[in-house]
Amino acid sequence: MPELPEVETIRRRLDGLLSGGVVEGVEVLRPDILRETRPAALRALVGERLHGVRRMGKLLLVEIGDRFLVFHLKMTGRFSLLPNREPERHTHLIVRGRDRDGQPFFLNFTDPRRFGRVSLLATAGAEGRAPLNRLGPDALTVGRDVFIALIRSSRRRVKEILLDQARLAGVGNIYADEALHRSRIHPASPGSSLTGRRAARLHMAVGEVLREALERGGSSIRDYLDPCGEPGSFQDEHRVYGRTGEPCRTCATPVRRVTLGGRGTHFCPRCQPPPRRT
Ligand SMILES: [Zn+2]
Repeated sequence: MPELPEVETIRRRLDGLLSGGVVEGVEVLRPDILRETRPAALRALVGERLHGVRRMGKLLLVEIGDRFLVFHLKMTGRFSLLPNREPERHTHLIVRGRDRDGQPFFLNFTDPRRFGRVSLLATAGAEGRAPLNRLGPDALTVGRDVFIALIRSSRRRVKEILLDQARLAGVGNIYADEALHRSRIHPASPGSSLTGRRAARLHMAVGEVLREALERGGSSIRDYLDPCGEPGSFQDEHRVYGRTGEPCRTCATPVRRVTLGGRGTHFCPRCQPPPRRT
């Protein structure tokens, strides 16, 4: 569930609190969350400096020494930053160390559904290797012309294009629905059917909704909390997502929910008329 605004909120928190610190140990409680990484490889991180935390799409990259510890939060992955060793239920990995002031920290990675993944990559050439090499341009910074081209070059339904991380990285179900409503585009419209102008409107809506959500600390649906236990509040601003049957905030028509490409999809049948059949 965490999408770009939630992962970026986590990134900012962790980057501010951990940059300049030192890693003293990595404890793997559930080795099956590791991808192409043996638990023993994580020992190389001990004694290394924490340079910072980056984000690519929905991936979080903790830069330690000359490596990235890469987290994919998937459905329910979450971090808690604590002053003591206190594994919670479903904590699968703990990074412990000292922050730049010498205070101990314990970073718990917790994931009840266990779809989350962790891998270790050398920073040199990391962009060329999985999972980083499977990502399209970042949804927060993608340029307008690039965005228009990636939408219009596919005949797939526009919502599925938005969700395809290899095309555009960072947007998930919530922000796809919200951006399509803001740009008055029906989620099942083929990308290739959109005019340049409508695709440009969608580009603007994607950027707008992501930035607004980021300002509100993301959306707390189900169990999203940032590493300090703070929820986001953007869920109160959703115009369609999770509002099935409630009045559209633009025209008061009840919001509809359909399943599209296996995903629950929310839209206003009046503001977002279905694509014309050709
Ligand atoms: Zn409406």
